[in-house]
Amino acid sequence: MVQIEDNFRHQGMRKKLVAEIRQKGISDERVLDAIGSIPRHLFMDTGFLQFAYIDKAFPIAAGQTISQPYTVAFQTESLQIMKFDKVLEVGTGSGYQAAVLCKMGATVYTIERQRALYDFARNFLPTLGFRPQFFYGDGYLGLPTYGPFDKIIVTAGASFVPEPLKQQLKVGGIMVIPVGTNDLQIMKIIIRISESEYTEEDKGGFVFVPLLTGISE
Ligand code: SAH
Repeated sequence: MVQIEDNFRHQGMRKKLVAEIRQKGISDERVLDAIGSIPRHLFMDTGFLQFAYIDKAFPIAAGQTISQPYTVAFQTESLQIMKFDKVLEVGTGSGYQAAVLCKMGATVYTIERQRALYDFARNFLPTLGFRPQFFYGDGYLGLPTYGPFDKIIVTAGASFVPEPLKQQLKVGGIMVIPVGTNDLQIMKIIIRISESEYTEEDKGGFVFVPLLTGISE
């Protein structure tokens, strides 16, 4: 049975989670509001309620994870999301990060390479009122026909910054991407300052599942 309940107990647990994330340094109230309002437990299998509102990544289908709430907040805050921003997400996964971006008023395009996850998110998110555009494909390539984007968020660990993603960023646009090895990535904030110039800033270590090439059935 699909779990759809979001009750006072869940809301209370979310409040505590938001307080914890705030205490860890997230200050954008719009990000905190989004996390405070989205029922994260509904993105995970039933029976894992006790894990939904602790600040940890958690396994979902296909060997993937729903990112740690602090990491979601950190990446979202780095993007300085404005209402109506056109945002590309690479790695839909559970769809939770996409929901946060939608909640903040962004127009979201999200790509996933695992069919089962793509199917789940595409069916589930609209039931919560979130309607990003879903794509089944290889996020290394971005979405050339839909770009350029104001913001790009990569939610899997890359070994390098894919050139197509840089090309699909608007001048003045911001990309957040974890880059490194399988064990540790450095969060990079990349800003396109002109047609040919980018600035890059490192924001500390994180651990994501790897960004893989191609698609998977
Ligand atoms: N944003 C997700 C986090 C998912 S984990 C959430 O909120 O739950 C990272 C996801 O990236 C996985 O689902 C994985 O399948 C996907 N992924 C890895 N490489 C990819 C690629 N090249 N293109 C698209 N998705 C990719």
